[in-house]
Amino acid sequence: MRGQLSFALCTFGCQMNKSRSEHLRYLFLQDGFSQAEREEEADVLVFNTCAVREHAVQRALGVIANLYRSALKKRGVPPILVLCGCMSELLREELLKKLPYINVLVGTQDFEVLPRLVWEAYTDNKRCVLFSPPSPPPFLEQGYKREGGTSTYLPITFGCDNFCSYCVVPYTTGPQRSKPKELILEELEAIVKEGFREVTLLGQNVNSYGKDFGCPQAFEDLLMSIEQSFRGTPLWVRFITSHPRDMRKEVVEIVQESTLLCPYFHLPLQAGSDRILSLMNRGYTKSQYLDLASFIRERIPKAAIGTDIIVGFPTESDRDFEETLEVVQKVEFEIAYTYVYSLRPRTKAAELEDNVPERTKKERLEVLSKILKEGYLKRLRCHEGRRTEVLVFQENGKLVGKTKENLRVLFEDSKVKEGQFLQVELEVIPGGRLLGHRVSG
Ligand code: SF4
Repeated sequence: MRGQLSFALCTFGCQMNKSRSEHLRYLFLQDGFSQAEREEEADVLVFNTCAVREHAVQRALGVIANLYRSALKKRGVPPILVLCGCMSELLREELLKKLPYINVLVGTQDFEVLPRLVWEAYTDNKRCVLFSPPSPPPFLEQGYKREGGTSTYLPITFGCDNFCSYCVVPYTTGPQRSKPKELILEELEAIVKEGFREVTLLGQNVNSYGKDFGCPQAFEDLLMSIEQSFRGTPLWVRFITSHPRDMRKEVVEIVQESTLLCPYFHLPLQAGSDRILSLMNRGYTKSQYLDLASFIRERIPKAAIGTDIIVGFPTESDRDFEETLEVVQKVEFEIAYTYVYSLRPRTKAAELEDNVPERTKKERLEVLSKILKEGYLKRLRCHEGRRTEVLVFQENGKLVGKTKENLRVLFEDSKVKEGQFLQVELEVIPGGRLLGHRVSG
């Protein structure tokens, strides 16, 4: 019966949202819905939203309204419009006013009942709105069948306790809840059986995994159990996001000894000035960050370090910004995501005056990008001529490789296949890119 209803899922935001959408897709299929071939043809349009930046919110609102209109035009009758995720959680009333044609609205806690709510909205021709308080979501503790492919995600925690002053996530997702280790290992087993070659363990702060059940070193214990259980399996295991305050050096040592765990550390710096870090409530200083980064470089010289940086946080002076640049010059990040500060409702930073002029923010972003690029190019040199293994995967319709350190590798060889592990020799080519020459297999 529900098979008569097709659905399309659009996802905004982070990997956690991508992972939840993957799960949501499974729940809809299990419930008898079918997947639409094209979004505009779907009976049910589901938007899994993000609220982390104002720009993303505005963009999402535009995409939702446009797609709704296209679907209405194509089908002749309105689709069932479903919104879930962080933006829904944060802007409930506002969304109902802005998009009065929403049929189902839930936040971050009620994903598992979405197919039922959609069905109710359809059969009873009513609007369903549900915002349950944070609790260990039952579906988080059940495995699910993934769509298939080379890489997938495995959430190990949900929610966040950190309350970084600029961040809305603790308000939209609630306190941290960790998935029991046994369930993670079972899910990993299923992932291996399904033929995935790479899995990324997800958490807002993976290093605090298990704190909520009173085990401060639970993340290290989890990594070691994964290593023991899956050694010899053709699988790479990554984890994001690490928190510079909570990441213990033992994690680096475990990765150094491991055959499965990938030496890529995503370690958001956010700012280099101690004054701004304190205003951000990040819980570490510039020198503590540098100490951790140099420990990684010393223990695993080829490891890659990724980061997130915000420019133009309220009261950020030229001197504060220079301190960020100093860290960037010292660490030479391989991967970086940079953002202009975005005021988020309900956060502590929203009480501060957003007093850095827009022009200054843009200029700082440009300078930062330039320095980041210089550091990246320097780091690339250590990969010239290096023989290493890469995993072949699809990215934007093209086959590319990825090193264990999370660096992209291009191929001239047209015979490579998705999901293959290949031995290649790396060549640094113009534009700061890596080319892989196959050396065996
Ligand atoms: S660690 Fe900080 S930035 Fe990351 S999700 Fe939690 S509050 Fe937000």
